[in-house]
Amino acid sequence: MTVRLRVDWPDCRAHGLCHELLPEIIDLDEWGYPLVRGDVTDALLADAHAAARACPRLALHLIRS
Ligand code: SF4
Repeated sequence: MTVRLRVDWPDCRAHGLCHELLPEIIDLDEWGYPLVRGDVTDALLADAHAAARACPRLALHLIRS
């Protein structure tokens, strides 16, 4: 099973909090919007859930495939 992060762009307001909580796989572009760099590994799963819960706009989601 692969776990990825998906950003709902219409809801994202470029707060950048997700990058602060999960810098291992989330960068920010020059406007502060998140750039997800890879899949969520088992080691990052708890932090990824925390980042999704902490998003002020609930714009960050974990997708399993
Ligand atoms: S914390 Fe949420 S609203 Fe802020 S940049 Fe990340 S996804 Fe967008």
